[in-house]
Amino acid sequence: MRGNTLYIVVPCYNEEEVLPETARRLGDKLRALMNAGKISPQSRVLFVNDGSKDKTWEVITRLHKENSLLCGADLSRNRGHQNALLAGLMTAKDRADMVISMDADLQDDVDAADAMVDKYLAGADIVYGVRSSRKTDTFFKRTTAEAFYRMMDVLGAETVFNHADYRLMSRRALEGLAQFKEVNLFLRGIVPMIGYPTDTVEYERGERFAGESKYPLKKMISFALEGVTSLSVKPLRMITGLGFLVFLVSLVMIVYNVVRWATGNTVTGWASLACSVWLIGGLILLSLGVIGEYIGKLYMESKARPRFLIRQVLDNAQEEDGD
Ligand code: UDP
Ligand code: MG
Repeated sequence: MRGNTLYIVVPCYNEEEVLPETARRLGDKLRALMNAGKISPQSRVLFVNDGSKDKTWEVITRLHKENSLLCGADLSRNRGHQNALLAGLMTAKDRADMVISMDADLQDDVDAADAMVDKYLAGADIVYGVRSSRKTDTFFKRTTAEAFYRMMDVLGAETVFNHADYRLMSRRALEGLAQFKEVNLFLRGIVPMIGYPTDTVEYERGERFAGESKYPLKKMISFALEGVTSLSVKPLRMITGLGFLVFLVSLVMIVYNVVRWATGNTVTGWASLACSVWLIGGLILLSLGVIGEYIGKLYMESKARPRFLIRQVLDNAQEEDGD
């Protein structure tokens, strides 16, 4: 029989406006699940402060004092959503039997957690929260996000469609995740690689409760690039394909030119020659760029930098262990 201690991990970056409400909702949810006997009294909410510039950590400290179900971990500096999430998951791993991760802004339906816990109790190791619709997202966010999933698919990065980082993972799945040592972290692509019994729960994604998105277009594009280049080598294979295609075209050109020569038309082709010089030059530069992208990754991986450093953990459930 598996244990039933639940930790809800919430990465927070400049979220002082939403945290009190989020804490109230998650605290209530935890208590309701405890009363229903589905989770143990050692269950907690763990807020991870990702080097916020506002009073997020002060708010977390205050919430922890007021309600012992609410805990916190303070990263040494801002490391980005994925690293903050990983820090939270790895901190919760040794204390919990199952961990649910969700955003601080209450866009993920808190009530879907019940179904996730049920599926865990029924034997699933990973339960993905899948958005049933994106009605509340702006047109821009929706189209760019859906284009993102399509692009990931075409470029060979396996992800769960319309699943963000709202999911439940068992301790066993988290121990698997801990063995992925990569620095270029794209959790949505790595989690499906872990395997084990998986399930999904559908939920309606709401609007951000307060504050503004920490994922502007610039970060979304770099997130997409990160995803593709850290998960898949398909772009490299595409270069090979492109090279082959250009080779075929040049064969046709040679035959064409020989025929032109044989028929006596010798003073032709200056324009096409100039064009092909530009074309080949462009293709070579593009290919070098993509290869460079991978070499950059190798370089970063070879440094094996720690992905996060935790300054402090607030969790009185563990105090008897001396933390
Ligand atoms: N976040 C973080 N570090 C960052 C940026 C964001 O921990 O550098 C957190 C943020 O506090 C939130 C989650 O990641 O809990 C998702 O961010 P957001 O809601 O702004 O993204 P969106 O829903 O707009 O894609
Ligand atoms: Mg959000």
